[in-house]
Amino acid sequence: MPAETVVILGGGVGGLIAANELRRRLPSPHRVVMVERNASHAFPPSFTWVMAGVRRPDQIMRPVQRLLAPGVELIEGEVREIDLAAHRVAVDGQALSYDHLVVALGADLAPDLIPGLRGGAHTFYSLEGVCRLREALPSFTGGRIAFVICRAPYKCPGAPLEGAMLLHELFRRRGMRGKVDLQVYSYEPWPMPDTGPEMGEAVLHLLKERDIGFHPEHKLTAVDPGKREMQFEGKDPVGYDLLLGVPPHCGSPLLREAGLADESGWVPVDPLTLSAGPDHTYVIGDATALRTPGRWQAETPLYLPKGGVFAHGQGLTVARRIAAEVMGADSHEAFNGHGFCVLDAGRRRAVAATADYFAEPTPHLRLHPTARSWHCGKVLFERWWLTPPGPLRSFMRLVLSVGCGRLGLEM
Ligand SMILES: Cc1cc2nc3c(=O)[nH]c(=O)nc-3n(C[C@H](O)[C@H](O)[C@H](O)COP(=O)(O)OP(=O)(O)OC[C@H]3O[C@@H](n4cnc5c(N)ncnc54)[C@H](O)[C@@H]3O)c2cc1C
Repeated sequence: MPAETVVILGGGVGGLIAANELRRRLPSPHRVVMVERNASHAFPPSFTWVMAGVRRPDQIMRPVQRLLAPGVELIEGEVREIDLAAHRVAVDGQALSYDHLVVALGADLAPDLIPGLRGGAHTFYSLEGVCRLREALPSFTGGRIAFVICRAPYKCPGAPLEGAMLLHELFRRRGMRGKVDLQVYSYEPWPMPDTGPEMGEAVLHLLKERDIGFHPEHKLTAVDPGKREMQFEGKDPVGYDLLLGVPPHCGSPLLREAGLADESGWVPVDPLTLSAGPDHTYVIGDATALRTPGRWQAETPLYLPKGGVFAHGQGLTVARRIAAEVMGADSHEAFNGHGFCVLDAGRRRAVAATADYFAEPTPHLRLHPTARSWHCGKVLFERWWLTPPGPLRSFMRLVLSVGCGRLGLEM
């Protein structure tokens, strides 16, 4: 059997999972090669904790190499071109040939699509952004903090709501909650619309309990940093003292150039196999546009939300399919559309929902009451994610698998 090369583009959530699972399954003559532009990986679900001062940035970062299983080759560089016909990618002027390709390039932030947003708003959607915000928050003495969710789709629809709840907690602890007006503005009809009206109601309740306002159907058109004012389509301008934006997201331009993405900039994939267009090409995670059955509102089709939990499941699926292909075996491995969302509600408690996004006629959601155990699970998951492959990580995986297994999820 000739040695084959699997190339994984992107060393974020989906790429790391796929690379390690491939290495575990493929004997050593076969190569597993990852290309990632950043030497260090920062775990995005912990960004809200960094913002709220619960974590320091260095506590949620690891060198990418340390998170990879021995035997995965890491190329630190920028992917410049994907040539599907030639089975070749260009990385900083170097050509890299592959037999199988996994594209896990995530989503880019595009704040410049909204005039004034880059200069007028902080963001906790990038490591640099959250570090700047963490520096700015201690000098905030009072006034309105506005969270603004600009456009669909965006990563982790729960993150801005968790962020608002954690800031409520932060200012409560500092004894100045009464001086801070926390408001969330969104283009959406209700919070987290991809998860359905029931989850939206539950989240609204959590926000109301904490005196955090939610303003649906507010589509941001511009920010005036001088006046500290947001402009919304068809609405009166709204003032703010500190603005926290979830910027518009877009797919990597490389995906369009390669002919993988459609006009939306995201890649339509087979929902079960994650295969995209040509043979031996898979796209996973935030880069995909994955249609799911059903709709919550007339005329609005449903797409799988952009979440690490899905990038994780899809990474496992494609790794197992490719490993079987390389070994000349059949694979019935399929992505099942299962996921979960755990929102830190403060005071070491969290609220959770588990979901089957492929259920007919609409996704099936199960809400779980706010509990300390969800918070512990979230912390343990973070610890596991940031632990290098080895016995300790395997043990943590075992513990988490028991909890996940009960919820019908796989680690
Ligand atoms: C604040 C916040 C909180 C979140 N909380 C949660 C949560 O609680 N639960 C959850 O499930 N999800 C959460 N998410 C979402 C989750 O982080 C993403 O959905 C997940 O990271 C997507 O994985 P991915 O592999 O598709 O992309 P990413 O993890 O973004 O990885 C993409 C990688 O590709 C690299 N890359 C891109 N372009 C190039 C190039 N040209 N050359 C080389 N490398 C390149 C990037 O550097 C990056 O490392 C959160 C996100 C944010 C921002």
